[in-house]
Amino acid sequence: MLYRQMLKENGPLALVKYACIAMSFIATADVTHAADYTGPLLDAHLHYNQEAWDGQAGPHPVVDVLARMQRNGVRAIVSNSRPNDGTLLLASSPQTRQAGVTVVPFIRLYRNRADYDSWFRDETIFEMVQAQFAKGTAAGPFKGIGEFHLYDSANANGAVAKKLMAFAEEKNLAVLAHVDDVAIDLLMANTPSKGQKARLIWAHTGIAGASVARVDALLAQYPLLMGELSYRPGLTCADAPGQERLCPEWRALLLKYPSRFLIGSDTWVNQRWQYYDNLMKGYRAWLGELPADVAKAIAWSNGARLFDLPSNPAAIETKP
Ligand SMILES: [Zn+2]
Repeated sequence: MLYRQMLKENGPLALVKYACIAMSFIATADVTHAADYTGPLLDAHLHYNQEAWDGQAGPHPVVDVLARMQRNGVRAIVSNSRPNDGTLLLASSPQTRQAGVTVVPFIRLYRNRADYDSWFRDETIFEMVQAQFAKGTAAGPFKGIGEFHLYDSANANGAVAKKLMAFAEEKNLAVLAHVDDVAIDLLMANTPSKGQKARLIWAHTGIAGASVARVDALLAQYPLLMGELSYRPGLTCADAPGQERLCPEWRALLLKYPSRFLIGSDTWVNQRWQYYDNLMKGYRAWLGELPADVAKAIAWSNGARLFDLPSNPAAIETKP
């Protein structure tokens, strides 16, 4: 139809025009990637563990990790560390402010690796959290607790897990939890509001196998539940290596709840610091597939709202 109409209107030139239009369609089809997201990033799941800085000697001292954040446009971080000294170091270093990186400090529950398996029943952990909260950091008060793990969701009902959930809600602290969907319900039930006021950030958003439908149902049930997207299987699909795109059902979920998701690096081992550039480039690639306002929300604004940071990070004071 188009071809016949063009021929009638333009005579012999129509064939040339038609060929050009056809070629431009082919060229467009070839360009499968939208432009990457270029705005600010808030890394909502960052660890600065002992082995990363190791008494400031390295292999990733403060200046090294700050350089990685800076060159990737990461302007704020949710920092937690085993033990908490790493976060306290980042929060107190003048280089952090000079780099224009805002630290949102969280209290880690782990003094050492043994604490991973017993924190939910260990009264000395609850005492440590209360003492850290009372002290605060050079960058201001602690804004959350975690990341913690529950390898058996039933331990969400441990005596100390219950106390910590109540403590977090009472102090308006966020909670970064690496748990399955069953534990989300249990943790929420252990808060005074039964989850209606709990600022729970679900690390990896259901990494243990929760379906998109299950994640959707939990987001609907708990109005302040947030999903952090590192290590989330099924988030991106790839036709070929290096060509990851958002999988359709996750793209639909992000568009349904644009104010509920965050990105994070999860630098739980030093190798993740070495891949920091690639991790952030990966986020920028799929964020670029989303409408600009949704991309900015997930990249920055949702975390900024959660932690009272400026909606435009240029407004963050960067002078020492
Ligand atoms: Zn983690």
